This record gives sequence, structure tokens and C-alpha cells, in this order.
Amino acid sequence: MSALGTAVALPAHAADPDVAIVGAGVAGLAAARTLMAAGKSVQVVEVRERIGGRAFTDSTTFGFPFDHGAQWIEAGKINPAMAIVREAAAKAILDRSEQAMYLAGKELSKEDYERFEKIANEATRRIAEALKKQPDVAVGRLLVPQDSLERLAYAMVGPLEQGVENGELSARDFTRQPEAEPQYAIAEGMGAMIARWGAKVPVKLGARVVRIDSTGTQVALETTAGQIRARAAIVTVPTGVLATGNFGFAPQLSAARREAIAQLPMASFNKVALLFSRKVIDAPAGRSVTALTGKGFAFDAIVRPANRDAAIVFIGGAQARALEEEGGRAAVTFALSALAEIFGDDLRGALAQSHATRWGRDPYALGSWSVARPGHADKRAVLAQPHHDRVFFAGEATDPVWATRVGGAYASGLRAAKEALALLGAKR
Ligand SMILES: Cc1cc2nc3c(=O)[nH]c(=O)nc-3n(C[C@H](O)[C@H](O)[C@H](O)COP(=O)(O)OP(=O)(O)OC[C@H]3O[C@@H](n4cnc5c(N)ncnc54)[C@H](O)[C@@H]3O)c2cc1C
Repeated sequence: MSALGTAVALPAHAADPDVAIVGAGVAGLAAARTLMAAGKSVQVVEVRERIGGRAFTDSTTFGFPFDHGAQWIEAGKINPAMAIVREAAAKAILDRSEQAMYLAGKELSKEDYERFEKIANEATRRIAEALKKQPDVAVGRLLVPQDSLERLAYAMVGPLEQGVENGELSARDFTRQPEAEPQYAIAEGMGAMIARWGAKVPVKLGARVVRIDSTGTQVALETTAGQIRARAAIVTVPTGVLATGNFGFAPQLSAARREAIAQLPMASFNKVALLFSRKVIDAPAGRSVTALTGKGFAFDAIVRPANRDAAIVFIGGAQARALEEEGGRAAVTFALSALAEIFGDDLRGALAQSHATRWGRDPYALGSWSVARPGHADKRAVLAQPHHDRVFFAGEATDPVWATRVGGAYASGLRAAKEALALLGAKR
């Protein structure tokens, strides 16, 4: 018997799905696929006109797949996202790119590379030591840069890796994340793989869920395209969307869950793709660049991806937020100046095509991924709890290990599907 015993409704109409799922990102698609494999009927409701959520590939504009969102599968030996690669029979490419580092346009000297290594190791040690003595601390209290090299090294902890400044980064939440190696990219693009993998899932596109009412015998989803009734629901929308209050619940979410949503805000991380009309970057194809500009802004880049006269610049934390706020071509201008410092001014006149993502301004993401505020790493487990017994929560923010990543979204979708199955009974 299910947790709700006899109160669990059978579908009122033959067309009613067993489970309604909000959001066709990785979490929603993983949940739907799992439920379908167990013989349950599902209906996914997605506000965008496409599936994939924060995984989306532009396959046409640049002559190489440009992933606006998720791109890599880190820690590939243990990352749950590798299951998607297998299920989609996709091609994963081991990332062997060498990293070159620059300060104000100049590559680090051999001595500076060695010192960088020591700074990075010492930072890891300091964070681990601090967590032996206290439950949590803001990384920014442990890593206070004294010079440019430390500033670059520490930017690679918070802004460029987690999308937040170190002062807003929970050391506990940060150390939850497994090591990044080995890292894989997807040949067709991550978003393209996800779209293929989820293609057989029934998704109602262009419909926004505004309210979930579980006070009756069935769960009713009020959407901009009408009502959907189901025996259970799975909610996978980002915490940024939940925090807006545009998404209602009856009964109301518990105070503990509302607090969890508030303490898991969205990080800021964006990408700028630049295509040049001729060869203006003198570097090996696919080289990874990490740098601090003369003005002290940190950025990462992949230059000459897929052997193209192009670059993808990555910006995170306060700088990403500031460029989003400035709007217009601010991010493209920044990316060009940042690269020009290293590769020369010639590239400014050779720009043929560009695109800057603005995930913080995307109303259905409102940021790149969830980050726990210092002292609140435990809130992911609170968010993952069922609401009113038959509304389940998934999405990257809810995963205890792989939060922020595709692997977390995937694992959370499987977990929520299993919770729904336990409620419905594994067999009809
Ligand atoms: C720039 C960037 C780079 C990244 N790089 C990586 C990376 O390299 N590797 C990695 O593992 N991860 C990366 N990530 C994170 C990764 O993209 C996410 O963790 C993952 O895609 C989240 O999946 P999800 O299903 O939890 O959420 P989402 O993909 O956000 O899915 C939720 C869905 O809900 C929909 N929705 C929202 N509101 C409503 C509503 N009211 N009604 C109906 N539908 C709604 C949204 O449109 C969306 O499709 C990156 C993210 C960004 C933004």
C-alpha cells in the first residue's frame, strides 16, 4: 500500500497521466524516462518551446556546437551523467586541453606556474582544515588574496567554478563536489545529446505551470494551457524560479522548504562565443586559457574550439552579474578586450559573429545553478523532501553530491521517479 493508502486516486480520466512533471530539463526527462520504463504514464509540462532546460546547443551559428549551458561531464568515472551518454549512445570526448594562464596579458613564468600549484594546494588544504573545526565557513574568509597570482587562483574556486564570489561560497557545499578529472565533452554538444535522449518523452511545450494543488484526491496542475490532473507530480524548476513566488502551491510550502529555497540562490555564470573571419588567435586548437585582466577581472576561455577561428569566453560571479546588468554588447566587448590583451588587438576587427548568454535574465532559469549560502549546505536535503506526500522535488539543486551539475539533475530525476513509484505502487 502506498504512503497515502487508499487516498491515492486512480486516474479520473483515461487521459490523465499517473505522474505530471514540471520542467523538461535533465531532471524532468530522467524522471519521465524512469517512470515510463516502469510502465507508468507521464506528462511533462515545459514553458519553453524546446526541451533540455539549462542544456542547450546552438548547432548552426558558429560552425561548431556551442553549448549555451552545460558542456562538460566532470569526474567522468563516477558522474551519474555518464548514464545519459550510454543511454543516448553519444560520443564523449576526453578533454585533454592544456591550460595556459595569464596575468594582464602575459603568460605565467615557470616559477609562477609552480607557485600557482602551491597556492591551489594550500587553498584546498586550508578549506579541508577549516571544515574539521567548524560545520561551515565562507570560502572568502579562508582565501584572502595578497597578490595577482592568488587573486587568479582564488577566482578559480568561486567565480569561475561555482559562479559566486568566495565570500558567498559555502566551503561545505563546495567540498561536496567530486574532483573534476577526467572531464568529457559531448561531440554533438551536451544540449543536442539531451534533446535526442529526451525526444520520446511526452512533453507539452510552451505551457507554464502556475500552481500545483494537491489538496484533492488528485494533484491538479494549473497551466497556461489548461489543467492537468495526475496521481503525483514532480517539480524540477530551478530554485530561482521557485523563489519568485510566481509558482503557487496548495497547501502552501512549509516554512522549512521556503527557507531552503531562499538559502539556495542561483549563481551567475555566462559564456560568450566569438567567431572571427580569419586566424587571429595564435594558439593550438582547443587550448584552455585562464587569466586575470590588467583591470583585475578573471575569465576562462577555450580558444580555437574544433580548430575554428573562434573562442568561447567564460565569465562568473560578480563580473557575470555586472555584465548582464549592463546589457547590450557589454559581455561581448569585455570578452574581446580580455582576449585582445593576450592575443593582440587585431582580433577586434575580425569579429564575424558573437553570442553572449544571459542566464540570470532568462525568466525560466534566473541564473546558472544553485549555490548554498555559507552555513546552508544542508538545505539541499530539505528541498529534496516530498511536499504533501505526492508532490516530489527534483532538479540539480536537490542532489546531495552532484548539485549544480547535469549529474545532479539526472540523479535527482531518478530519485524522484522512485519516490513516485513507491507511492503509486510499482505495478498497476
Ligand atoms: C552557463 C552554464 C554552464 C554550465 N556548465 C555545466 C557543465 O559544464 N557541466 C554540468 O554538469 N553542468 C553545467 N551546468 C549546469 C547544468 O546545466 C544544470 O545543472 C542542469 O542542466 C539542470 O537541469 P535541471 O533539470 O535541474 O534544471 P533545468 O534544466 O533548468 O530544467 C528545468 C525546466 O523547467 C522549466 N520551467 C521553469 N519554470 C517553469 C514553469 N513555471 N512551468 C513549466 N516549466 C518551467 C525550464 O524552462 C526548464 O526547462 C551549466 C549551467 C549553465 C547555465
